[in-house]
Amino acid sequence: MSIELPEALILTKQMQEILIGKEIAFYHLQNFERMQKIGFLNKNIVDFDRLLNKKIIDVRARGNTIRLELENDMNLIIAPEYGGEIFYITDDKTGSKYHLKVSFTDASSLTVRIKSMGCILALDNHELVNTYMYKRDFLNGISPVEDEFSEERFSQKIAVLKRNLKAILVGKDAILVGISNSAFQDIIYRAKLFPKRKGSELDLKERKTLFESINSLIQERVQLGGKIKFSDLYGNEGKYVPKMGPNKKDTSCSECGTAIEKMSFGGGQIYFCPTCQER
Ligand SMILES: [Zn+2]
Repeated sequence: MSIELPEALILTKQMQEILIGKEIAFYHLQNFERMQKIGFLNKNIVDFDRLLNKKIIDVRARGNTIRLELENDMNLIIAPEYGGEIFYITDDKTGSKYHLKVSFTDASSLTVRIKSMGCILALDNHELVNTYMYKRDFLNGISPVEDEFSEERFSQKIAVLKRNLKAILVGKDAILVGISNSAFQDIIYRAKLFPKRKGSELDLKERKTLFESINSLIQERVQLGGKIKFSDLYGNEGKYVPKMGPNKKDTSCSECGTAIEKMSFGGGQIYFCPTCQER
């Protein structure tokens, strides 16, 4: 499953608690050729040597990109966009299912496995600011968990946008960071909005409901340890069951009983209730 903003926040909080101050003693990369070919991992593997003998001084996430900041202006960027696993281990129980394993001087390790699209990059500060993921998630867009995400500002912004709601909330032109197709379906179902509605078509009340739906989705997903099938740093699985999405296939709406429908839209499948989310 995709790691979206709520899951990136959960992992980041756990990493802040356990990794800060730890010094990297060695690393191991494996089965990375495919990722390297499409630019998801450094072209030169020796770039990772720059992480050695450095301590982790901070861990932060924005959107679905996680930045581990190290001494001497070095960074490890982990962006498990369309699925990935990041585990903290103190023994060898995770076996060999990882692309990168970073081991610390106290013998604990962090393993990272990217399941589909996603990045693992060792970058200095200068390289970092020229990286697509960093530019997209850290330098652009509004983060729904930061103070800048206010109802007034969000409402004003979408009121003038003639794009559909999916293009406003998901993808490279989105005004927010960290929302993918999964969160999007859940958000607009909560807000009772049809996905093809345009920002400029929404009235004040609908914009307010959309704002509240984004907040409630993120809060619930963080509180429940992430979405189902997500594993946190210690392997605990998330308990948040999406209110709308592929898991609702062949079921009926829990609000009104109408059969859930599916359509292709904006480069993905969208499940929705044709009654609650009337066009
Ligand atoms: Zn319904």
